[in-house]
Amino acid sequence: MGMAIYPGSFDPVTKGHLDIIERTSKIVDELIVAILENPRKKAVFTIEERLEMLRRVTSGIENVRIEYFQGLLIEFAKRKKVNLVVKGLRAISDFEFEFQMALVNRKLDPQIETLFMVTNSKYSYLSSSIVKEVASFGGDIRDLVPPEVYDMIMAKYS
Ligand code: ADP
Repeated sequence: MGMAIYPGSFDPVTKGHLDIIERTSKIVDELIVAILENPRKKAVFTIEERLEMLRRVTSGIENVRIEYFQGLLIEFAKRKKVNLVVKGLRAISDFEFEFQMALVNRKLDPQIETLFMVTNSKYSYLSSSIVKEVASFGGDIRDLVPPEVYDMIMAKYS
């Protein structure tokens, strides 16, 4: 099914993200996981750290590539000649925002299609913010993030 882009801030990557990446990689020929800055959220991890974390957790998946882009998603998609964007949906609360984003993106570029992947129920409660909140109060995040990035995340909070 061609190529797709999975955009996000991945600050940091969670087991929920990885689940979406793994499942999507089985459907598409090639998946670009793209770190895009979200102006509404101030990042804790640097771009380099986020690239490194995503590379670590996807090193075993052949058709996944990690990239960073500063700017609009549709600009990145155009540059890569990809017209399929994949988003994860955790709850109704994600839907309203993602629905709006999908419509705006299609308004800006009618070629762009957005495909929603429904979360694995195991991870429906999981977000990068929850990981940061738990870690900052000294809670155990072992079940929330892939083991390959656990140390990198904890290093920020020690
Ligand atoms: P977060 O919302 O956790 O800060 P991002 O902004 O990096 O994460 O999200 C990137 C994409 O991944 C979005 O489409 C988001 O809906 C999706 N996503 C994040 N966490 C999960 C999860 N636990 N299950 C399914 N999709 C998720």
